[in-house]
Amino acid sequence: MKIDWSSGLQGECRCGRLTMRVNAPPIMTAACHCRGCQRMRSSAYSLTAMFLKSNFLVMAGEPVIGGLHGEHRHFFCPHCKSWVFTEPLGVDHFVNVRPTMFDDLSWFVPFIETYTCEKLPWVRTPATHSFEKFPAMAEFSLLLATFATHASKQT
Ligand SMILES: [Zn+2]
Ligand SMILES: [Zn+2]
Repeated sequence: MKIDWSSGLQGECRCGRLTMRVNAPPIMTAACHCRGCQRMRSSAYSLTAMFLKSNFLVMAGEPVIGGLHGEHRHFFCPHCKSWVFTEPLGVDHFVNVRPTMFDDLSWFVPFIETYTCEKLPWVRTPATHSFEKFPAMAEFSLLLATFATHASKQT
């Protein structure tokens, strides 16, 4: 469970051509049940680990925009088409990384879940904060603080 974040955590896409690295813990972890994530993830929901952009680095490969080609910038490996990370609309200081790309996943548990209004009825996640859609910005700031406290108790 214990990760030495300062020495960095590596991740890669399905084919390994796109590699990345983070060198600090996430500021939030989440599961999203929206129909868009269900389609892009080819699964019941998507997983997200949010990192400050300054702690995230693409090491190899040239990520290309996929998904909606719209407001949120979804980045994919050009070769294997894995959805690796997203730059959400209107946010320039953090990046949403798909945690299943990391070599070590032992640290990941979704803290919040979003879009439960579109959740498949049989899905259960361990998230402790559930939102019918997305939390409002003010509420999200509070959640970041709660998550930071929660994370510091784990180490
Ligand atoms: Zn790839
Ligand atoms: Zn979603």
